[in-house]
Amino acid sequence: MDTARTMSNQSLENDEQTMLADAAAVLKRYWGYDSFRPLQEEAIRAVLQRRDSVVVLPTGGGKSLCYQVPAALRDGLAVVVSPLIALMKDQVDALTDLGISAAAVNSSLPAEERRQIARRVDAGEISMLYVAPERLCNERMLDFLSRQQVSFIAVDEAHCISSWGHQFRPEYRLLGSLRDRFPNVDIHAYTATATAQVRDDIAAQLDLREPELHVGNFDRPNLTYRVVPRQDSKKQIREVLDRFKGQSGIIYCISRKQVDELNEYLNQSGFRSAAYHAGLEHDQRQAAQDAFLSEQVDIVVATVAFGMGIDKPNVRFVIHASSTKSLENYQQEAGRAGRDGLPAECHLFYGARDFALWKKMLSDLEDEAGDVAREQLQKMSRFCHTAICRHRQLVEHFGQGFESENCQACDVCLKEVAEVSDAMTISQKILSCVVRVEQRFGSDYVTNVLLGSKEQRLLDNGHDQVSTYGLLKAHSKKEIRSWIDQLEAQQCLERQGDYGTLAVTPIGRQVFREEYQPRLTQVMGRTATRRSASSDLDATAQELFDLLRELRRTLAKEKKVAPFVIFGDVTLIDLATHRPTKISSFLLMHGVGRRKCEQYGDPFLEAIQEFCEKRDLPGDVDLPAEMAAATTPSSESAAPNDIEQTAAELFSEGLSLDEVGDRLNRARSTVVGYLTAYLKRERKTDPTPWISEETFQNISLAALEAESDRLKPLHEALGGEVSYDELRIAMICLKNTAAEE
Ligand code: ADP
Repeated sequence: MDTARTMSNQSLENDEQTMLADAAAVLKRYWGYDSFRPLQEEAIRAVLQRRDSVVVLPTGGGKSLCYQVPAALRDGLAVVVSPLIALMKDQVDALTDLGISAAAVNSSLPAEERRQIARRVDAGEISMLYVAPERLCNERMLDFLSRQQVSFIAVDEAHCISSWGHQFRPEYRLLGSLRDRFPNVDIHAYTATATAQVRDDIAAQLDLREPELHVGNFDRPNLTYRVVPRQDSKKQIREVLDRFKGQSGIIYCISRKQVDELNEYLNQSGFRSAAYHAGLEHDQRQAAQDAFLSEQVDIVVATVAFGMGIDKPNVRFVIHASSTKSLENYQQEAGRAGRDGLPAECHLFYGARDFALWKKMLSDLEDEAGDVAREQLQKMSRFCHTAICRHRQLVEHFGQGFESENCQACDVCLKEVAEVSDAMTISQKILSCVVRVEQRFGSDYVTNVLLGSKEQRLLDNGHDQVSTYGLLKAHSKKEIRSWIDQLEAQQCLERQGDYGTLAVTPIGRQVFREEYQPRLTQVMGRTATRRSASSDLDATAQELFDLLRELRRTLAKEKKVAPFVIFGDVTLIDLATHRPTKISSFLLMHGVGRRKCEQYGDPFLEAIQEFCEKRDLPGDVDLPAEMAAATTPSSESAAPNDIEQTAAELFSEGLSLDEVGDRLNRARSTVVGYLTAYLKRERKTDPTPWISEETFQNISLAALEAESDRLKPLHEALGGEVSYDELRIAMICLKNTAAEE
């Protein structure tokens, strides 16, 4: 065996381990997060190993951290391409608040500020620079950057480079020159757009070199989808809003007129909302967006113009007052809910009119583009009219499988909507009624005939004599109206003329011959709603949560940043539940890193203390004893290391991974990270009790025999029976042994 090579491979593996342990430490120290989300580790490793990559994660998947963590670890300047000024500002604010030096250059900056940033970059004071694509690719900027030590380039919203994507931006094409300009710099692309075509196009346009591809799971389990026929849209919208008083949400409408009307209605009804659409002045739009981000208003009523670059994590609901024109649009817009991973709701109220309107708007599109758009619209209509799990439909549309039989988080699985079993017969009755009244009446009239109404006009017309009179009298008016709508959306019926008289289409005629199977759904009534983000809190915790939210708003205003830059809702929920009374316990809360603690520890602790005193409540509730012990005042200054230190002590006492995880209330992956760091630091050569003697021996033998000591071949050589965690632990001990010899 080539020992030298094995050792160098081994050290590669170990380097990788060190890298990931460092990344986990940075995640904790700056962001206060305990573990990575799916694929973040892989994406970060690609940047740390300088391998080009394309990372596809759904909205809220945590793409930003995939380049921000490596930027904090790698030497030099990370350049981040980002399409929108608002987005850059939020990210730079958030990074600065965390203690990571970042800046953004864009056209809205005064020249003097731009020069100042340039000076700071020259002096090596900045580790992340956000730039818009057109600015990055201008000669002066490229020259300037060529003189810097650029560590890597991250292209955010990378689908904008592809004309196959739904948000193609020509200026992104300029980025194609970066590879030539910076041949030794690795380039990484991030997007939430899932299609393989867009992905390949991104890699080709950016000239990536054998990029690593990481595609996340597109399901968003924290979102509950409801897709309901529109009946009384204001009432339906109010029902949602009443359950989310004081919380953030977005309402999408198709037209500007609808936006203005609904916004006015909501304001008159006492809701704090703002309108946003392309017909407003730039300043008005900016004000609406700022008011939403800073939580001066709770709701934005908007057209599709609103949203890109809105990374507000605590959007608790997204309502579509009308259908979107594609599932891609729906996924993207609805996906703006619940980025913080807490439960959120997505409501879509659709009607036949939406599809007719879109069809009209798309009628200008010719050739392939037109065909694609119409097919997308058809798929959207099917999504609305099919009682199949919404999570499943979305995930499968984006080419992934869906395991769960019942998601428990959509109207179909919650049994609020069902497919009508005799859709064919009902449809035939409706269509035939339209024919019997000679295609001269609208849906209200046809519904009345089917219901067997005694309406005078109907009797005068002799329509109580037609064979379809009263054929659906066992059903409600609402139901029949909705089915007519549904048949229209499936192009079995169409409305004609100024009065919207109903006519049967060629597809409708196929229904008579049973050559086309229409689908009809039926609303079964509302089940109990899944918990909302903070509704698990008891009354006291809710009160404290609201109080801390107010404090967050005040601090954000003072600092001129969005409230979520200070803390996310998850952190506030933790604070309201555990009521930390000292810095050391404050540091244990989700999302509290060292810098956050320095900046906000005092005001938040003070508010909590005052709250506890007033109500005679204890603080530091439900902190596991060991955690509390690990946070004695003497160790207050460096708590992230405290936890690691406590973990090390527990390991030295021989506690297992699970025991340490339980004591410290940490995920297994995090504890493995602590253990590997501990084994390395202490140069341990014996991996028991974390892996058995026998397993260690098997791994040692396999490492000796294998051509390579990379983890995957070892895993395979051992028949897949030894976990990667065990392999990692064993390889560190083997390396420590080799170093001793
Ligand atoms: P994306 O750009 O993929 O839509 P973001 O990068 O904006 O997602 O992340 C969404 C939210 O999730 C942010 O509030 C971010 O701080 C949070 N987040 C990201 N990674 C983690 C993690 N590992 N643990 C906890 N929260 C995380």
